[in-house]
Amino acid sequence: MEENGNAVVSKNFIEMAIEKDLAEGVYDHVQTRFPPEPNGYLHIGHAKSILLNSGLAKKYNGKFNMRFDDTNPTKEKIEFVESIKEDVEWLGADYEDRLFFASSYFDQMYECALHLIRKGKAYVCDLTADEIREYRGTLTEPGKESPYRNRSVEENLELFENMKNGVYGDGEKVLRAKIDMASPNINMRDPILYRVAHMTHHNTGDKWCIYPMYDFAHPIEDAIEHITHSICTLEFEDHRPLYDWVVRECDFENPPRQIEFAKLYLKNVVTGKRYIKKLVEDGIVDGWDDPRLVSICGLRRRGYTPESIRMFVELCGVSKSQSTAEMPMLEYCIREDLKLKKPRMMAILDPVKVVIDNYPEGQIEYLDAPNNMENPELGERKIPFGRELYIEREDFMENPPKKYFRLFPGNEVRLMNAYFVTCQSIEKDEDGNVVLIHCTYDPETKSGNGFTGRKVKGTIHWVAAETAKKVTVRLYENIIDEEKGMFAEDGTLNLNPNSLIVKEDCYVEPELAKAVPGDRFQFVRNGFFCVDSKDSRPDAPVFNRIVSLKSSFKLPK
Ligand code: ATP
Ligand code: MG
Repeated sequence: MEENGNAVVSKNFIEMAIEKDLAEGVYDHVQTRFPPEPNGYLHIGHAKSILLNSGLAKKYNGKFNMRFDDTNPTKEKIEFVESIKEDVEWLGADYEDRLFFASSYFDQMYECALHLIRKGKAYVCDLTADEIREYRGTLTEPGKESPYRNRSVEENLELFENMKNGVYGDGEKVLRAKIDMASPNINMRDPILYRVAHMTHHNTGDKWCIYPMYDFAHPIEDAIEHITHSICTLEFEDHRPLYDWVVRECDFENPPRQIEFAKLYLKNVVTGKRYIKKLVEDGIVDGWDDPRLVSICGLRRRGYTPESIRMFVELCGVSKSQSTAEMPMLEYCIREDLKLKKPRMMAILDPVKVVIDNYPEGQIEYLDAPNNMENPELGERKIPFGRELYIEREDFMENPPKKYFRLFPGNEVRLMNAYFVTCQSIEKDEDGNVVLIHCTYDPETKSGNGFTGRKVKGTIHWVAAETAKKVTVRLYENIIDEEKGMFAEDGTLNLNPNSLIVKEDCYVEPELAKAVPGDRFQFVRNGFFCVDSKDSRPDAPVFNRIVSLKSSFKLPK
C-alpha cells in the first residue's frame, strides 16, 4: 500500500514484479512498450495497455516505446499507423522520439535465425502446412518429428538462404525451431520461425520474401529495444516459454521478461477490432470514429476526454483474472471529469413554445446566470430573456399526476435564472398537441433580486425564442440491444435499431452558435454534450450527447 494524495492505493501485481526485479538487480531500469499491429484503429482495450505501459515507465523513471509490430505485410496499412499515433498521443502517452517499426529489425531477425541454425536450434522444413498441423499432435497426444528435422547445419544454411533469395514459392518451405515435439505445450513443438511470402511490405517494399512469425519476431523486437517488462494480454501466457526460449537461444544479454494481464472487456459493448471492423464495413456505423463506438477516435468524437479514459482504466485495475467492466463506469468517469470544468448552458431538445402575455412585446433583457453553480471560477454570463420562450415539452402537463411540480394550468414555477411564471391557458393543434402555453410573469420575482414573497416547487429551464439558435443534437444509445445481450444464436450481433436519435429542431442559447468542434458543455438536465468534429459547420454546430446526467454507477467505497 502507498499514499497517493489522500487515497491509499495498493500496488498491482505488475508493479510488484517490477519492484522485485529492480530490488534483486535483474534490471537496473524499466523500459516498456506499446506494440500494436497497424491493422485497425485502437479501442478502449488498447487504451488500457497504452496507459498501463506508459504509466509504469513514468512511475519507475523508465522509458516507453511506441512500436508498430508491422511484421505481417498482408493486413497492414499506413492509414492505421497514422491513426494509432494520433490516438496514443491524444491519450497523453508520451513516447517522445521513441517511435519504432518492427520491420526495421528484419536484418537482425534474419541474423538471429542464422544464429539458431548454426547452433543446431533451427531447421528448414519441407512439410506442407497441413502436414505440419498433422505432425503437431494434439493436447493429449505428442507430436511427431519432421523427417527434415535432422538436416545438417550446412544444408539448413543453404536452404534458408535460398528461401530468402526467392528460390521457393509461398508455403514451400519454412524455418522451424528445433525444440521438443513431445512438449505438453503445443507452442513448443518446433514452431515455425519464418515463412516464405512473396508480398510487398509497406515499409521494406520487395526487399524480403520471407517474413518472421509473431512468436519469433516479438521477443527479438523487445530484446533489441532493451525492453525490460514486455506486458501483454493473457492469451499469450502459453507462449511465454517460447518467448523465453527465443531470447535465451538468441543469446541476448539482459533479456526482457513477459508479463500477462487480463484484457479489458466491457459488458454488452463491441470492443474487438474484428467486430468493430464488421460494423464499419456493413455500414451500420459512420466509420471507425462513429460516436457510438468505443474505438479511441469514436470516444474522442463523442466527447470523452483523455482524463476520463485514464480514470476509467485506473478504476478497472490490472489483474490476471478475466473480468468485465460496465459502461456506466466509463460514463461516471466523463461526468466526474466535466462536471466542474464545463459551463452549464440551457438547451431545449424537445421544444414547446411559451408566451408571457404580460411581458412587453419586442423587449429583450439580459439576465445574469452563473456558468457553473458548483464552480464559481467559471464566472457568469448574460442570457437573453424575452416574451416568447421554448421549454421542454416534458416540463408541461395538462393533467399532471400528484407530485408533478413543473408547469401545468394554474401552477407557478421558476424559470431558471429568470422569473416566476404562472400558466394561464394553452392552445392545441387539430390533433390535440399543445402548441402554445400562455403564461404571466411576476416582475418582482426576478432572479438575484432576493424575492422571498412566496415559494415555488418547480424550476424549469428555457431559451428565449427570438435569440435562440436552432441546432441539431444527436442522442446515442448502445449499438447492442442490451436486453437480448451481445450475440444472437447464429453468432451475429444483436443490434439496437434506435442507437442514434437525431433531433434537428433543438434550441440553444445564442452563445452556443459560436461553439467549435471539440467544445464541451453541460446542458441543464439533458446531459453533457460535445460539438461534433465531422458534421459541424461554422455557425452550425452539431451537438453529440456524451452522456446523460442520470447515473446507475456508484463508486465502490
Ligand atoms: P483486438 O483483439 O481488438 O483485435 P489486438 O490484440 O489484435 O486487438 P494488437 O494491435 O495486437 O490488437 O494489440 C496491441 C496491444 O494492445 C497488445 O499488447 C494487446 O495485448 C493490447 N490489447 C488489445 N486488446 C486489449 C484489451 N481488450 N485490453 C487490454 N489490452 C489489449
Ligand atoms: Mg492482434
